Amino acid sequence: MFAADVWNNIRVKAGIQNFSTWDDIVMGLASNAHKRSIQSIIARLLLAASTYLIWKERNDRFHNMSILTKRESLWVSWNYDNKLKGCSFWDIPVPNNCSWGWRKLLQLRPSIRSHIWSKVGNGVNTSAWFDRWADICPICNLVSPRDIRMAGFSLNASIADIISNGVWLWPDAWYDLFPVLTNIHVLQLEPNKQDTLVWKGVDHNECTYSSSTAWDSIRSKEKLVPWYKLIWNAQCIPRHAFNMWLIMRNKLLTQDVILSWVPPRRKTMDMMCCSLCTADFDSHSHLFFECLFSTQVWFMVRDLADLHTVPLVWQQVIDVLLQHASSKLPINVIRRLLVAAVAYVMWQERNNRMFGNQSRPPDILCKEILHTVRSKLMGLTFKKTDCVSSLLDRWEVHGESLFKRFT
Ligand SMILES: [Zn+2]
Repeated sequence: MFAADVWNNIRVKAGIQNFSTWDDIVMGLASNAHKRSIQSIIARLLLAASTYLIWKERNDRFHNMSILTKRESLWVSWNYDNKLKGCSFWDIPVPNNCSWGWRKLLQLRPSIRSHIWSKVGNGVNTSAWFDRWADICPICNLVSPRDIRMAGFSLNASIADIISNGVWLWPDAWYDLFPVLTNIHVLQLEPNKQDTLVWKGVDHNECTYSSSTAWDSIRSKEKLVPWYKLIWNAQCIPRHAFNMWLIMRNKLLTQDVILSWVPPRRKTMDMMCCSLCTADFDSHSHLFFECLFSTQVWFMVRDLADLHTVPLVWQQVIDVLLQHASSKLPINVIRRLLVAAVAYVMWQERNNRMFGNQSRPPDILCKEILHTVRSKLMGLTFKKTDCVSSLLDRWEVHGESLFKRFT
């Protein structure tokens, strides 16, 4: 149903709404495979993208929750019979000789355990000791397996096995040994309702399970940095954005960074030489923009983004961009694109010279930078004003389609 919903939503766009089965779709596309019309290309791309995304979504959901929900499938049954062998998924140790995939699933348990809760219905499929069905759970963290067995319970006992006539069956002595148990009220079992698993986010609110909510719950979160919008925005060029992110984190592997890993006696001054100008040390601050070569390139392009008054210091360039980090005004979009493109091309050139023995003169790099930014601008839309038209003319970007959305 999920795949059908996805496909139904996009197949009209692909122009193949009349095909209902996989064979029909494939045969239909195969008959047009030789055509290079836009419609036929879009249909092929949409089919490939849909199948990929549906398969990815299926895998994300499949592995995380299938075992815990005991989904009816050969894979789940096989794992229950051969790997779990009657034990709880939460309780088994990581074997030394298991497959990579199974090891990863088991290693994920500490990260996800606090988020997976059992909603108890009849209590038959919820482990009394290992599942999380109350705030203090899992109870195995309080009561040892030895105590559980000595009280006459099985380690596989379900909630239904430890409640009778509306009272807990565990011994009264446990309340003295583990006083926190007094906080657990006896659950009202509902014979006709199955137990279900739910995902609780970081705020302990129940939410619909998806790979994105799961990832958002378990990922480490840091304080937002003020410059993130300069880099990660809708108009960014992904490879440039990634390079900018490395620069902002001071993580480009310039030679000063590499040399910090090398023992002092093995350091040589030759290793520190900049491959662009060969006149100074290779470092972040040198590349952007103390280096004579990169300065030369920067001078050739900065006027197009009205950045000629900004001092030749990376942080000062970033400070100017930060003043309008969220702005969608064309000039600010262009500034962000241009700085990222210059940084990317300079880093690429530095690497080409250092590792590929290839070099290009500044004017060629300038052309590449402008071409990249121009190509990106041609894919954007703008509000038509005299000022914007003039700016785009300066970039030699023309065409009414640029303003289509707003006219
Ligand atoms: Zn240099």
